[in-house]
Amino acid sequence: MRDIDTIRAEVCALHAELLRWGLVTWTSGNVSARVPGAELLVIKPSGVSYDELTPETMIVTDLDGRVVAGDHSPSSDTAAHAYVYRAMPEVGGVVHTHSPYATAWAARGEAIPCAITAMGDEFGDDIPVGPFALIGDDSIGQGIVATLRGHRSPAVLMRQHGVFAIGGSAKDAVKAAVMCEDVARTMHLARQLGPVDRLPQPDIDRLHDRYQHVYGQHPAADSPEGAKG
Ligand SMILES: [Zn+2]
Repeated sequence: MRDIDTIRAEVCALHAELLRWGLVTWTSGNVSARVPGAELLVIKPSGVSYDELTPETMIVTDLDGRVVAGDHSPSSDTAAHAYVYRAMPEVGGVVHTHSPYATAWAARGEAIPCAITAMGDEFGDDIPVGPFALIGDDSIGQGIVATLRGHRSPAVLMRQHGVFAIGGSAKDAVKAAVMCEDVARTMHLARQLGPVDRLPQPDIDRLHDRYQHVYGQHPAADSPEGAKG
């Protein structure tokens, strides 16, 4: 089992990916990872600038969001992350951003239609809209789980808020958040040119099945190099 220090280093490094792909502004956005074999998660501290994040500043909490280790307060979104881990045992990583194109769709409360092959591959469906929910209790977590449980999409547009993405690992969840913003931007641009047609469902099904099962290099499933690309 990977130890907590390793996971802290991974979660810290993944926050740099949010910056690199232009998903976050100031201190917004956060990544967490489940600690395998323990009822724990690792998440970003609240209000610390991205420049100052180090593995040591990452916070360890239990799955009710109570701090177990760390010198700062955990992200104010910790309750939502913790709720997802409690409700969805298959989830190993959670990401939250207000990335601008995806959040523009969220602001309108409009699902992003599955109209390009990249969406069929990665999301296997429209990227759905979750309910409007205020921070402070389990409402956001409940909305994420109610929308994504049983859905192919690893990302949800929480209405008038932003993106939550999940994955088998924190890296997978970051990839889903990056791809969500990418297709949100493309579909926004397409909309400026005129109406856009959703792909036929059989084509979406074929794209998704191929991408999930055939595409990629197929290293060991739990390898950090396992992301398809
Ligand atoms: Zn937020």
